[in-house]
Amino acid sequence: MACPAAPAAGRDGASPSIREEGSSDEDLLDSFVTEDSQQCADLTDSVCAHLLPRAKHIMLLSDSEAEAPHPEESQNLCDSAPAGDQFFLVHWPHQCEVIRDRIEHIDWIPTSPEPLYTPTGLEVTPPYQNPDKGTVVYLEEVRGICPLKQIVHQKEDNTLIFEARFESGNLQKVVKVNEFEYQLTLRADLYTSRHMQWYYFQVSNTQAGMPYRFTIVNFTKRNSLYKRGLRPLLYSEADAKKHSVGWRRTGNEIKYYKNNEGQGEHQCFSLTWTFQFPHDQDTCYFAHCYPYTYSNLQEYLVAISKDPVKSKFCQIHILCHSLAGNIVYVLTITNSSKSSEVTKRKAVILTARVHPGETNSSWIMKGFLDYILGDSSKAQLLRDSFVFKVVPMLNPDGVIVGNHRCSLAGQDLNRKYRSNMKKYYPSIWYTRNMIKRVMEEREVFLYCDIHGHNMKKNVFMYGCERKRQVKTPYRNPRVFPLFLSKSCPDKFSFPDCRFRVRKNKEGTGRVVMWKMGINNSYTLEASLCGSKLGYRRRTHFDMKDLESIGQHFCDALLDYCVHSKEEYEKLLKEQARMNSKVPNSDVLDCDSSSQSSDSPDSGDLAAHQLKLGTKKKTKTSRHFHSSAKARSHENKHIQGIETQHKIFQVLDSKKKVKLPITASAKQVGEYFRQMSLATTSHG
Ligand SMILES: [Zn+2]
Repeated sequence: MACPAAPAAGRDGASPSIREEGSSDEDLLDSFVTEDSQQCADLTDSVCAHLLPRAKHIMLLSDSEAEAPHPEESQNLCDSAPAGDQFFLVHWPHQCEVIRDRIEHIDWIPTSPEPLYTPTGLEVTPPYQNPDKGTVVYLEEVRGICPLKQIVHQKEDNTLIFEARFESGNLQKVVKVNEFEYQLTLRADLYTSRHMQWYYFQVSNTQAGMPYRFTIVNFTKRNSLYKRGLRPLLYSEADAKKHSVGWRRTGNEIKYYKNNEGQGEHQCFSLTWTFQFPHDQDTCYFAHCYPYTYSNLQEYLVAISKDPVKSKFCQIHILCHSLAGNIVYVLTITNSSKSSEVTKRKAVILTARVHPGETNSSWIMKGFLDYILGDSSKAQLLRDSFVFKVVPMLNPDGVIVGNHRCSLAGQDLNRKYRSNMKKYYPSIWYTRNMIKRVMEEREVFLYCDIHGHNMKKNVFMYGCERKRQVKTPYRNPRVFPLFLSKSCPDKFSFPDCRFRVRKNKEGTGRVVMWKMGINNSYTLEASLCGSKLGYRRRTHFDMKDLESIGQHFCDALLDYCVHSKEEYEKLLKEQARMNSKVPNSDVLDCDSSSQSSDSPDSGDLAAHQLKLGTKKKTKTSRHFHSSAKARSHENKHIQGIETQHKIFQVLDSKKKVKLPITASAKQVGEYFRQMSLATTSHG
């Protein structure tokens, strides 16, 4: 069977709003496409090629960037353009076996925020079972080009049936320990032996009301949000069908602990939890965070391209193709205008999902896009004021195969923004190049790369500033995060923001874009767990919360635009005055790991303090010491949050801006300008 994605065919037939981005950058790529299309056809699985197009086996890179690529290691694309049905193509690495079923979930928001888990002290640590010895009920093998396989068992048996060979799925092995107890192993990021964190799998053959226990035994991080209340997500197909209920939190007796496996640097950690299935013979799913697949993104983009209104101000382009041949999309969003005013608009650049396991970044991105593509007067004003360049999924291959952190090159792409290896990190190279081109045309007001955080709570940002930089208020990188914290005080924490540029972060998007000249260059981090702030304290973030961050991001942009320079000055002075009462937030920075998103990965403040505890002290005194320090840190944190609120009392003492909903963009602009003048004169 021929490769379903004949290279030339699709491009001509591309949907009107979907075009190639910067054809000059595509030259190399096009030559690969022609060269490899026949080989691709030969190697594509003949049975399900139509459903599951494949890239050939991808040659691996060594960690050393200095190593020059060999010609035979060049990427092999099975290329397609997003025309009609082909828009839905998802390319897998050749050696991955994938089930045909399309996994879909309904969107559902719990009626009230779901509380974090509170330990009872009665949680047990189940004995570690050597995975080579128990009854293996599920096994994925990823060895060279060996196919994956599943152990099938008898029908009458009550044994659970596991499956994860679907988009974004991750589960390596399951051992049945006893009737209702299973020990699970996660799959490392493809072509690496690390990064076990993301899980997403299906379970069927369920029995309702029975006390099941799952234990995942190969996490490698010492600290985890599972130690601080995070509960796994459960989805029941029966509940979705009968009651329109989607992903919800589950789990009791939750415990995260070091298990007996691995010593020294190779310590392993387990997560155990008990639960009950809601229905007999149901098909359920478990996940680390709300899944958001590449197919979800494609569906979303198709809907935009088919919308007669949205497609006018949102152009969808192909930025480049990933190693497996998946399209990396870039969106350009701005209102059209006949006047030359368009060329003066500043640019705002947003990217997400460089780390596949941080699915919350896609939900934030969705919230941003829903807002900016909407018909509200605020959205219109923003589209009149800015040109938005958006790369919603930087690492589609990693998302498809269910990686946690890496691309198919086995590397963390958020350390590759300085690399010139276009072939191996195409989405990063083309994103940086796209931004360079934008900077030649217009001022870039803000760059932000969206992430999820596996160690800390709240939403916060990392920015960049020099120690002795003379900061005019308008150029001060602290202003935008301050506005964002004002916009969502129950989720976004300004005291958690950091503005240091560390040596081990020099390859991140944030630092590279800053060095290229973008002053407001940020990483936005959203906890995979929840908030410590206000009424959302000790509750999980749900999908709507995450989407709301994207909306608040837009509000903060508007706030930034309508406030005067005098107000920034006042805001910053107030922040500095309040901060002098609280220790410098950067002093509390516990950034130490090179494993983080772009960010501290070393856990929460309490855990950090635990590490600082003197080794010679007894266990009890060390515990006391760390608890006292943790309390002191917690107090400082609360002071910081109070500071955040006080700063905005200063701003909010003035009359609040209220937008007339029916106003045109022009009227709204005028309204804002007047409000801005009014508030300035009051101040
Ligand atoms: Zn990240």
